Amino acid sequence: MEKELPSSAKVVVIGGGVTGCSTAYHLAKFGWKDTILLERDQLTSGTTWHAAGLVSQLGPSAGVTKIRKYSLELYKKLEKEIDFSSGLKLNGALSIATTKGRWQELKRQATTAQLFDVNVEVLNIDQIKKFIQSLMKKIF
Ligand SMILES: Cc1cc2nc3c(=O)[nH]c(=O)nc-3n(C[C@H](O)[C@H](O)[C@H](O)COP(=O)(O)OP(=O)(O)OC[C@H]3O[C@@H](n4cnc5c(N)ncnc54)[C@H](O)[C@@H]3O)c2cc1C
Repeated sequence: MEKELPSSAKVVVIGGGVTGCSTAYHLAKFGWKDTILLERDQLTSGTTWHAAGLVSQLGPSAGVTKIRKYSLELYKKLEKEIDFSSGLKLNGALSIATTKGRWQELKRQATTAQLFDVNVEVLNIDQIKKFIQSLMKKIF
């Protein structure tokens, strides 16, 4: 569909992936109506098209964790706002450390999680075994 572009706009967002769409969405939320989003191909046809759709909550820093938590809350709200399901499923995640460094990182993330009300449990090897066994029973 050919559409004539306006000769001016307060904001021009270039790229209609998740970043551009989110930028335009949030500007509109803040009342900036004079916004154009330019996409050279189709909306979400870039990297966004390839994303597996995982929405992890914990990040390597407090800032990233905060953004991820915000995103999750937004996906929940959006379903109601636009009356269309994004297919969001809250399954939880299991992160397993196989090196000391990764173990340190996960423990740090677990501490940060508490600050942001993200429900995290630190499990030992026996607890993980039990957890996986009960999961396998459910699946097969
Ligand atoms: C295989 C794979 C799996 C992934 N899985 C996950 C996941 O599970 N969870 C997760 O959070 N992240 C995942 N990611 C990362 C995630 O997909 C990206 O971080 C995210 O999609 C980047 O979005 P973006 O809007 O910045 O870029 P893009 O989606 O690439 O959007 C950029 C857009 O700009 C357009 N564009 C470029 N130049 C111009 C121009 N000059 N004029 C107009 N338009 C232009 C492009 O056509 C494109 O549509 C995955 C990535 C890959 C590759």
